Amino acid sequence: MEVSYDIKLDQVSVRYDSVEALKNISFEVKQNDFIGIIGPNGGGKSTLVKALLNLVPLSSGEITLAPNKRMGYVPQFAEFDQAFPITVEEVVMSGGMGGKSYFFRRFKKEEKERAKTLMERLEILDLASKQIGQLSGGQLQKVLVARALLTKPDILLLDEPTASLDVQVKKEIYEILKSLSEEVTILIITHDIAEIFSYVKSVAYINQSLHYHGSDSKMKKNVLELTTGCPIEEFVQKEEYLMKDFIETEDKYHDSCHS
Ligand code: ADP
Ligand code: MG
Repeated sequence: MEVSYDIKLDQVSVRYDSVEALKNISFEVKQNDFIGIIGPNGGGKSTLVKALLNLVPLSSGEITLAPNKRMGYVPQFAEFDQAFPITVEEVVMSGGMGGKSYFFRRFKKEEKERAKTLMERLEILDLASKQIGQLSGGQLQKVLVARALLTKPDILLLDEPTASLDVQVKKEIYEILKSLSEEVTILIITHDIAEIFSYVKSVAYINQSLHYHGSDSKMKKNVLELTTGCPIEEFVQKEEYLMKDFIETEDKYHDSCHS
């Protein structure tokens, strides 16, 4: 049966003992969406990803994936042990090994070919034989994206993949994700909306419950209103280049902020 979504959350709640991390979350993620999940620290964003990956039980509600959809996951930056002695190519290839130990598994030729294609796509092919300990943060992040894509997932989940990277490298990674979102549904978590503003197709703002979900032209305005009271000036100062298009189309809102 054809369904209109890749992921559907219906009244999802997750509780850790006394903490209700997520409360009655309902929304759908469409195929080829590039959705940014934003919200404050402790707002339940990582819990949402864990729920999608079946790593935490739901206390109520339901998560449904469209039939035969597979998920790839890019771990949070700090969760990856960069001291492990392994090359870039080996890390990318390890995305296909399930639970098996890298050293006891033979790789199929097609997997090797696909790893090469992905490394080309992510512009890390020249790093293939480097030890991961030698990589910059941005390079490592690209390696982890390539790794997550090895098994041809339909849906790619990323939990704050660019935390601690500098602005230029962040932009580069978001550009790559934007182009990937032509083929893969992407759900990315960040606590900083300025980072993803001009790249995503839709946004969900989560602070325990879902405060906003949308992809219409008013998305940015609505999200800004939710995240801070009168935020445009703040953003203009911080991320002027990101806000330029927005300000030009939202002059009225800008004016009303000063009244
Ligand atoms: P975010 O990723 O948006 O910062 P989290 O999903 O990590 O938020 O956390 C949501 C809430 O759940 C927070 O109050 C956090 O302290 C709590 N929490 C997260 N993981 C656990 C856990 N394993 N045990 C108990 N509480 C947790
Ligand atoms: Mg988190």
